[in-house]
Amino acid sequence: MSRTGDFVERWVRSEIRALAAYHVPDPGDLIKLDAMENPYRWPPEMVEAWLAVLRDTPVNRYPDSAAVEVKAALREAMPIPADADILLGNGSDELIQMIALAVAGEGRTVLAPEPSFVMYRMIGLFTGMDYVGVPLRGDDFALDMPAMLAAIEKHQPAVLFLAYPNNPTGNLWPESELRRLIEACPGLVVVDEAYAPFAGASLLAAVAEYPNLVVMRTVSKMGLAGLRLGLLVGATEWLSEFDKVRLPYNINVLTQVSARFALQHREVFDAQSEAICRERERLFTALQGMAGIAVYPSRANFLLFRVASGQAGRVFASLREQGVLIKNLHAASAQLSDCLRVTVGTPEENRRFLDALAIACNAL
Ligand SMILES: *Cc1c(COP(=O)(O)O)cnc(C)c1O
Repeated sequence: MSRTGDFVERWVRSEIRALAAYHVPDPGDLIKLDAMENPYRWPPEMVEAWLAVLRDTPVNRYPDSAAVEVKAALREAMPIPADADILLGNGSDELIQMIALAVAGEGRTVLAPEPSFVMYRMIGLFTGMDYVGVPLRGDDFALDMPAMLAAIEKHQPAVLFLAYPNNPTGNLWPESELRRLIEACPGLVVVDEAYAPFAGASLLAAVAEYPNLVVMRTVSKMGLAGLRLGLLVGATEWLSEFDKVRLPYNINVLTQVSARFALQHREVFDAQSEAICRERERLFTALQGMAGIAVYPSRANFLLFRVASGQAGRVFASLREQGVLIKNLHAASAQLSDCLRVTVGTPEENRRFLDALAIACNAL
């Protein structure tokens, strides 16, 4: 082995060396329906107004570390309880990391249903915590409540992550079940509302009811994925501790001014979210009507569907050859065998996807 390799092997933790880096495929010219992005751009006059804001932005200065005005704009745009605090992250991914950094320690556990958002497990691992995944019910991805309660009792998790709605399954678990888990959990419960713009449900109003609940959101899925801005909403007691592990200038000036600008035009994003929800229902019906495909109900901006046994790889490859990039989840977990996930695009993109899928399935 090379000398460098010897050093790396000696010093980089074995659990990190064993990981595969988070893989983001290069979309090239493909229709990009793999990452839950909003497919719509801004009206030209809005782009012009934004450029005027950017022109006056002093990039020679550090950003406002507390990002006071961004927080005020978020309060205008989202039903954040007045007595709840806000902590911002460079995407909600960074908030997950801050939470883990603050609670990590010998024998501390992160718990989450599975399959769910992969960063819960990854960041638990990065920070040296134990990770416990509790399988969702295989037929409909419902929470297995007896198994969840038993795992909470057994592992006494420091943090429980619940994605509401869940990614990659798209379903929204009953609020009563989430409340039951919050009450049973000895640690912090993070309800991850990344898909709030499409869900028609939220636990934001409940943060004051529980001493161990915080709610996480992001502007990514509403149409600002490129800005990297997530928010955690909860009691100051929790957030002021997490704030101590935050890097001082984690929200850059361009993100701060752009988020404020965008949130002032939130009717544009609301209309786009409504269009995406309408398209989701159309796409769902179309997939339901296709032979050999089982599609799952979704309250997010994507749909999970299952193809004939052993065919997910072929369907994925055929779609790609026809110019459409979606996500193959077949190998992601046992419950997702033969499953693929498609992000809802524009009507034209969805039509192209459906045409390509019909050809892919006919060719099997
Ligand atoms: C996409 C996603 C996120 C990540 O959001 P960012 O703010 O872009 O980091 C968080 N949670 C879930 C469940 C997601 O699907």
